[in-house]
Amino acid sequence: MDDLYGFLRYARRDPPKQRVPERIRHWREYVAVLPDELMARQANRCMDCGTPWCHRHCPVHNLIPEWNALVCDAHWRRAWEQLDSTNNFPELTGRLCPAPCEDACTLSLADRPVTIKSIELAIAERAWQSGWVTPQLPKCRRNERIAVVGSGPAGLACAQLLARCGYRTTVYEKADRPGGLLRYGIPDFRLEKSILERRLRQLQAEGVTFRTGVHVGVTLSVDTLQRSADAVVLAGGCEQPRDIEVPGRGLRGIWFAMDYLAQQNHRVAGDMIEREAAISAAGKDVVVIGGGDTGCDCVGTAIRQGARRVTQVQYHDRPPLRADVLQYWPQRVPVLRPTDTEQEGCQRIWGWSTVAFTGRDGRVAQVVMQRLRWEKREDNSWRKWCSPDEIRCLPAQLVLLAMGYAHPVQRGMLKQLNVALDARGNVSADERNYLSTRPGVFVCGDMRRGQSLVVWAIREGRQCARAVDHWLSGDSELPAI
Ligand SMILES: Cc1cc2nc3c(=O)[nH]c(=O)nc-3n(C[C@H](O)[C@H](O)[C@H](O)COP(=O)(O)OP(=O)(O)OC[C@H]3O[C@@H](n4cnc5c(N)ncnc54)[C@H](O)[C@@H]3O)c2cc1C
Ligand code: SF4
Repeated sequence: MDDLYGFLRYARRDPPKQRVPERIRHWREYVAVLPDELMARQANRCMDCGTPWCHRHCPVHNLIPEWNALVCDAHWRRAWEQLDSTNNFPELTGRLCPAPCEDACTLSLADRPVTIKSIELAIAERAWQSGWVTPQLPKCRRNERIAVVGSGPAGLACAQLLARCGYRTTVYEKADRPGGLLRYGIPDFRLEKSILERRLRQLQAEGVTFRTGVHVGVTLSVDTLQRSADAVVLAGGCEQPRDIEVPGRGLRGIWFAMDYLAQQNHRVAGDMIEREAAISAAGKDVVVIGGGDTGCDCVGTAIRQGARRVTQVQYHDRPPLRADVLQYWPQRVPVLRPTDTEQEGCQRIWGWSTVAFTGRDGRVAQVVMQRLRWEKREDNSWRKWCSPDEIRCLPAQLVLLAMGYAHPVQRGMLKQLNVALDARGNVSADERNYLSTRPGVFVCGDMRRGQSLVVWAIREGRQCARAVDHWLSGDSELPAI
C-alpha cells in the first residue's frame, strides 16, 4: 500500500444507487460498483491496523487487509485469488451480507468503516468479467458418492468443495430450479438470477449433478437416498415460518412472506402464475409484519408491484439514533439504520404487536395492533407488556407475515431419518464434525444453525465438506473454514 494515511485523506464512499423513481419501475439490481480508481481509494482507507478484527468477525475469515492492499495497488488478480481461497461465492456476500466485518473495522472507532463489502463485490465482479472464474477440476475422480439435499448456499458450497475433491456429488432440490433462498426468497432487485446461474454453471462443470423437483422424504424416500450414496448432507434450510395465532388469522389476503416472494421470483423468471393463485399488492394497502431481510424484501416487492401504501410493523422499539461505539465495538452498534425500502416510500412503525385481523366478506380489511412497552429489568433482561389503552388499526387488503422461521420442516425427511433435534428444533450436530445422530448423515447451514445468513451458510457448507471428506478418507486437505 503506497499511502499509509488513506484513512485521513479519503472519506468513505458507498456505491451509487439508482434513483428511487427509476428503480421501483423494474426488478433489476440498482446498486452499482464504484469504478476501479475510486475503489482503490476506498481500499486505501484500510489502516492495516495489525489486529484485523474485520477478518475475525467475517464468518468465512476473508483475508480483508490483504486484499485491500492488493486492490490499492491494482493487483486485482491476486486480490481475487485471496478472496477465492476463503469464500466460495463472494459475488453473493458482496451483495447480500450485512457485513459484520465492517462493524468490527478498527476505523469505525473514529470514523466510518472501510467499505469492505463493496470492495469484495468489486473484486468478485472483476474476476467474473475477466474470465478468472473457471471450473476447478479435481486431480483425480473418486468412487464415493455424496448426496446433498438442498441447493441453497450451504448445499452449494459443500457440494462444490466435495466435487473439487473428486467425489461424485449430486444435489437434490425439491424446487424446480436450484439456489434455495437465493433463487426463490431474495428478489431480483437484490440478486439478479443471472449471477446465480453463472455460478451454477461453474459447479456443473466441476462435476456437481443437480436433480431438481426431487422432494426427499416425499417423492424420494430417505432409505433410497441413503442407499444411493456413501454420505448424505442435509442442507435443507430452516423453512418453518413463525405464525401468528390471533382472531381473524383465517381471513383471505394474509400470506406468509415466502409464499409471496417465491411467486414473484417465479414471475420474474418468466413462469406463468395461475390467476386464481396470484398474490398481488397492486393498488392495495399492504402491511408487512416483521422487520429483517424477509420483511424488507416483501416491502420492496410490494412497492414494485404498485401498492398504494406499505407499512412495516416492528415488534421492537425504535433503536436510538446514536450510541457509544466503544460500548459495543467490535459488535454492531444498535442504532437506527435507514433502509432502502424507507427511501422507496415504506413507513416503518415500531413497538406494536398484532392482536387481531378484521375483515369484510372473508377478506382481510384491517390489522389491529396494541402498543408494546419494553422495560429493562435490573439484571438487564427485558420485560414486555401490551398497553391495553393504546390500540391502532391499519387498513390492509394484503398482509404479509415475515416474523422469521422457527426451525426446519420436521415432517417428511427429518422424521423419516429420525435424527435428533436440538432444543430449538434444528438438526443436532456440532460444528466440528457436522454429523447428525444418524450414521453417514451430515447437516449444515440453516437446517443445523437455525435461520441465519448467506455467509454463515457458506461457512457451514465449507466446514461440512471437510468433515465429510475426513469421515470418508480419514484425512482432509480442505480448508478448516
Ligand atoms: C426473504 C429472505 C431474504 C434474505 N436475505 C438475506 C440477505 O440479504 N443476506 C443474508 O446474508 N441472508 C439473507 N437471508 C437468509 C439466507 O438466505 C439464509 O440464511 C441462507 O439461504 C441459508 O442457506 P441454506 O443453504 O442453509 O438454506 P436455503 O437457502 O434455505 O436452501 C435450502 C434448500 O433446501 C431445499 N430443501 C429443503 N428440504 C428439502 C427436501 N426434503 N428435499 C429436497 N430439497 C429440500 C429447499 O427447497 C431449499 O432450496 C434471507 C432469507 C430470506 C427468507
Ligand atoms: S463475507 Fe460478509 S463479513 Fe465477510 S468480508 Fe464479506 S461482507 Fe464482510
